Amino acid sequence: MGLQGKKTKEMYQRAMKVIPHGVNSNFRYWGENDTLVIERGQGAYIWDIDGKQSIDYRLAFGPIILGHAYPAVTAKVQEAIEGGTLFAWTTPLEIEVAEKICKMCKVDKVRLTNSGTEATMHALRIARAHTGREKFIKFEGQYHGMLDYFMFSNASVPISSIGSRTNPINVPMTSGIPKAIVEYVINLPYNDVDRLEAEVRAHWGEIAAIIVEPIMGNVGSIMPEKGFLEAIRALCDKYGIVMIMDEVKTGFRIAKGGAQEYFGVKSDLVTYAKSLGNGFPIAAIAGKEEVMMTIQPGQMAHGGTYSGNVVGTAAASAVLDILANEPVHSTINKHGKLLMSRMGEILSEAGIAHAFMGVPAMFGFVLGIDQPPTDLRSYHKGNLEQYEHLAMKLIELGIQPDADAREPWFLCYSLSEQDVAQTLEKFEQSIEVLKS
Ligand code: PMP
Repeated sequence: MGLQGKKTKEMYQRAMKVIPHGVNSNFRYWGENDTLVIERGQGAYIWDIDGKQSIDYRLAFGPIILGHAYPAVTAKVQEAIEGGTLFAWTTPLEIEVAEKICKMCKVDKVRLTNSGTEATMHALRIARAHTGREKFIKFEGQYHGMLDYFMFSNASVPISSIGSRTNPINVPMTSGIPKAIVEYVINLPYNDVDRLEAEVRAHWGEIAAIIVEPIMGNVGSIMPEKGFLEAIRALCDKYGIVMIMDEVKTGFRIAKGGAQEYFGVKSDLVTYAKSLGNGFPIAAIAGKEEVMMTIQPGQMAHGGTYSGNVVGTAAASAVLDILANEPVHSTINKHGKLLMSRMGEILSEAGIAHAFMGVPAMFGFVLGIDQPPTDLRSYHKGNLEQYEHLAMKLIELGIQPDADAREPWFLCYSLSEQDVAQTLEKFEQSIEVLKS
């Protein structure tokens, strides 16, 4: 059967003739019967081309912080593009957006780019150029985009393949990565300060950067334990390593100033994307003056034909104003808290073991265990199949989280109290599938 209605099925068959597997990103492929074709979105809702309406908690993997087709953002973009979209010169909009980011995120300098992958790629190069070192540390399960260097031991590789905690194995997520790349990558378990310290002490002279997702937004929103981000900060200071906070998911979402503000830890470089544009393609590399000024024309490259284009910058300019002036985060937090607590109660009442993770703006939960996981390894003790079963039932009922437990539930400003109530009602209904 699957999730596809009649029109969706036909349209998807058409897509498969010209687009590999009918999708423009592998993460959107849910198999031949469940991959959807979407007609439009408005506020907290999306409609597939069969006209089925869903409350959207995937929000395009996080970017839609305000709501789909948010009128003030659409209007600003429409007005701005009347005057052209790209000039290979600086525009006033770029300056405005950079000023707003510096103010909101308390960073010294910003370079704009187009996607999370571009931002993390440039951040890694800046860190290498800044330190003159070539290796970097990342954490198991974390996703930093499609650059070869980052695609090892993220949440898509079989957990049985990544070796022991004391001697982790770097496992590539994909074919097509040159063998030599692995030499530059050190993957360590998240939240393990002792293991991190030992690695840094032994190899600091080779390590350019420690890149960290401050909340594991690609593993169900596992939280950093108290002191973990602070320990990274301290090690980076002590050993001259560049700290890169990958805030592609957390930026502008968990607080105005993102994870730096939320956790009170300042990074050397920060990468932003998703919520900065509410669905328009814009991203940023930001950070401290000294590190950002490693970028030097003719010496240390950062570039891109579309960087700072009018479409993305106009959207970001509108988004940043709304985040600054409206109760976006307090509204999202109120609704997210309600969902987390009531969903937890419903599961408890049904006698289903569960643990919630993350923050109200991007939360996750695992079934089958009652303690929140602290890293990729403990996360896999949860019953991920049971989660998928539950999520697929919810999707059938018009509530759309990702079926993959690793993707958090994302909330937008347009989500109403009624939507929350409807979600809870359907949630209660769907957990019946776990009892049978
Ligand atoms: N970093 C993080 C933390 C992400 O979650 C993602 C995307 N999910 C990326 C980087 C890559 O961003 P993009 O898909 O825009 O290239």
